[in-house]
Amino acid sequence: MRRQLLAVVLCLPFAAYPQRTPKQVEVKVQKTSLTREQEAAIGKEAAAQVEREMEIVRNPEIEGWLNQIGQRLAKTPQANAYPYYFKLVNEPSINAFALPGGPMYVHAGLLQAADSEGEVAGVLAHEMSHVALRHGAAQIGKQQTWGALFGLAGAAVGAITTGENGECGWLCQIGQTGAGIGGNSVLMKFSRGFERDADLNGARMMASAGYDPMQLPRFFEKLETKLGSAAEPKGLALWLSSHPATGSRVQYVADDIKFYPKGSYTADTGRFPRIKQVVASLPAPQMKPAKLVLAKEGAAPRRNLPAGFKDYQANGFAVAYPGSWRIGQGDGGGSLYLVPQGGAVRGQNGVELLAGAMVDYYAPAGSVQLDASTREFLTSMQKGDANLRAETSERVNVGGKPGLKTRMTTRTSLQQEPDQVIYLYTVARAAGLWYVALAAQPSRLGDFEPVFGQMIGTVQFPD
Ligand SMILES: [Zn+2]
Repeated sequence: MRRQLLAVVLCLPFAAYPQRTPKQVEVKVQKTSLTREQEAAIGKEAAAQVEREMEIVRNPEIEGWLNQIGQRLAKTPQANAYPYYFKLVNEPSINAFALPGGPMYVHAGLLQAADSEGEVAGVLAHEMSHVALRHGAAQIGKQQTWGALFGLAGAAVGAITTGENGECGWLCQIGQTGAGIGGNSVLMKFSRGFERDADLNGARMMASAGYDPMQLPRFFEKLETKLGSAAEPKGLALWLSSHPATGSRVQYVADDIKFYPKGSYTADTGRFPRIKQVVASLPAPQMKPAKLVLAKEGAAPRRNLPAGFKDYQANGFAVAYPGSWRIGQGDGGGSLYLVPQGGAVRGQNGVELLAGAMVDYYAPAGSVQLDASTREFLTSMQKGDANLRAETSERVNVGGKPGLKTRMTTRTSLQQEPDQVIYLYTVARAAGLWYVALAAQPSRLGDFEPVFGQMIGTVQFPD
């Protein structure tokens, strides 16, 4: 009896100070000044911009598969009930990103780099976790204007930057870096804390959906080992740098899994090998006009431009223009304007060109053919402008390509001299009918015509 009592007494101090059991790391949904409706609106605008610049793969088999995995993850409590949807973009680089409110885009290159459906699910779960935990919204809320974050798309929400003439509110300076949303700017860079939270929330999401959560950190670390190697997949460095980890992803996810309810992870559609084959057989991606007009990154400067001219090298063409002119796009992107001071005004339906140049691509109904597509383009312009008269087109050479030059006349909203002469140059390109419209009032043609001629002389195409 006595001995037993002693044992109880001796045990008491231990019972009073229980061993501290490790606690599961807490993952928080970030506070943000944005409402869910605002997040959805931002995501929708950004998604529209992405789809203007990148080619979405319209393949029911791939889309169906991607959404099957995605919706399985979206139903878990960790997904925080956002209306996610998933699309594949025809880009060979490694990338995947989810926009505020739920739109998510996966590059074909990422599917090529993955070895299992679980690895793809891991990337989806990680990116969806940035949305679910409101990381983008928190970051945007801090920046006041989300436009600042999305570069060019910023023009869509009004005045982001004001140029010397205060013009840039609507005709916004492109600059030489050409920040397109489909490019790097969409890769929001999150803090290491947000990254760890996205890993942990993503792993929990994986487990809830029936996928082995270890596939998430293992895929990230597998990709890291390819960094700097000769066979480094395109875009890998950029993607990994936008998802920096603190310490070992595998380690902290493994620590987290100890707290998960026991279960076996059996989710798998079994279709991944087939999907990889379909992805491998996709045609080469076509750059869309919205991307072709954006400045090309890392373009080497061109020599032998006319004196005092500035150069603009876009993804789809290059053109030089007088140094005193401004270059920009209207609200929400679109056509490129190269104008002298006062050469463009905000019209009822966007930007009105008074004098200077406008460059863009026209998308014909069928295939692109110089003569037929130019005629179709002229007809469509005349439908929208009753004053527009076009003379017979003449054959010219633009940047070493066969082109057409069409002289047109119309009227502008300019009070003093509404008459306008436009020289329209068109060239058939894979993405559409490339054109530059060079415009001036008849009284100023004497000054403008030589400049127009010099500009046309600087046009080049990359292929
Ligand atoms: Zn991330």
